[in-house]
Amino acid sequence: MSRQAEKLRPVPPIAANPPPARRFFPAMLQSLLGVIVLLLTGLSVWAADTVVSSTRVWPAPDYTRVTIESQQPIRHKLFNLENPDRLVLDLEDVALNTALTDIAGKIGAEDPYIKGVRAGRFKPGTIRLVFDLKAKVKPEAFALAPIAGYGHRLVLDIYPLTPPDPLLAFLKRHESGQPETPAGATAVAPAPGPALTPTPELSAPEVTPPQVAAKSETPAGKPAARPARTASERLITIAIDAGHGGEDPGARGRAGTLEKNITLSIAQKLKERIETEPNMRAVLTRDGDFFIPLHMRVDKARRVRADLFVSIHADAFVKPSANGSSVFALSERGATSVAARWLAKQENDADLIGGVNLGIKDPYLKQTLLDLSQTASINDSLKLGKAVLQEMGGINRLHKNYVEQAGFAVLKAPDIPSILIETAFISNPDEERKLRDPSYQNKMADAIFTGIKRYFSKNPPLAPAQVANNP
Ligand SMILES: [Zn+2]
Repeated sequence: MSRQAEKLRPVPPIAANPPPARRFFPAMLQSLLGVIVLLLTGLSVWAADTVVSSTRVWPAPDYTRVTIESQQPIRHKLFNLENPDRLVLDLEDVALNTALTDIAGKIGAEDPYIKGVRAGRFKPGTIRLVFDLKAKVKPEAFALAPIAGYGHRLVLDIYPLTPPDPLLAFLKRHESGQPETPAGATAVAPAPGPALTPTPELSAPEVTPPQVAAKSETPAGKPAARPARTASERLITIAIDAGHGGEDPGARGRAGTLEKNITLSIAQKLKERIETEPNMRAVLTRDGDFFIPLHMRVDKARRVRADLFVSIHADAFVKPSANGSSVFALSERGATSVAARWLAKQENDADLIGGVNLGIKDPYLKQTLLDLSQTASINDSLKLGKAVLQEMGGINRLHKNYVEQAGFAVLKAPDIPSILIETAFISNPDEERKLRDPSYQNKMADAIFTGIKRYFSKNPPLAPAQVANNP
């Protein structure tokens, strides 16, 4: 007992000084508990609520795309409401943050389909986005897996109920005095080839709805302003495809230049030049910053009965020293070089990065493209490519002095000679500077234009265009 008592003796001094100990331990415990509680709360929030990292809006005449990016996939519900027309997108287990609420400020007045959007907590666990609409629309929502620096993306595509007809829009714009586009342009039969699916169409260059424009711009019996051409001078249509766009920036230069902006700028300059020719007209597959799936670019070229398809790009490689301009044509079999195969893979990935709804299949188009032999158009593509490459050699070093071939998805129109031009290497600092320079862009557009004209001077279009066939 006494020993124990002795042992216990030192206790009183400690007890004699209780306040600091009592204060210290409980305080430490409290803060520790606090940290644990905070951690648990944080974890539960993290586990339950997906955090949206950013939202983007891509308005275009064809469709408006809304992208919601997050670190986890988002479960969602989508439905329409009427009177007035609204679109509701419910996001499940998503935290309401400024990345989401900021979307309200991203709807421009010029958006063809969305008037405005509100984001708020609808009920516990559900964030509701309400889009006020300018018209009745056909929406599609789908998820994209992480790729190329993007996290999970929930994509909402808002299409018009009646898709703009690219042929009608195109004819309307070119009707002024051209015998191929009489007042009855609206009666022009659809181009032969793929059936017109209800899938929304590609970019009509105009924002004006075709029916309105057709009324105001193609009055019946309007006299032709241009003299009629002979059959040999028939109107030549060039489809110009500005690579990438919207969610798909394409390659990125070291100074931050985005391929999608360069391609659009050069495409627009090329179009300006083509339109100065009395017997040529040009149509852009996109005339703004939005994404178009690769097969839709081809489809649009076919629907406007293009004689040529020219896809504009800017190359990139891991080594910044790689430089020079290149021209590519389709290969039905293997690629002409490892580099060409690699590049085709990069360019074909545009659909994955830009975001295609894989839930919508277009089997008819695929089958048509597979069934038709492309040998003839590939031979013409090589001739066209050679003519363009030769001109490009006058303004920039050529990466290869011949037209390379690989399985580019965008060159697969079976009946239209098609080339893909890599204007220069955006990954090369010197060439990136050139690509940004409007005077280089002009020179590039001049070279491509001259190449196209040279091709036609040696290979005049034989059959009259389908449109010109109408008396
Ligand atoms: Zn590209």
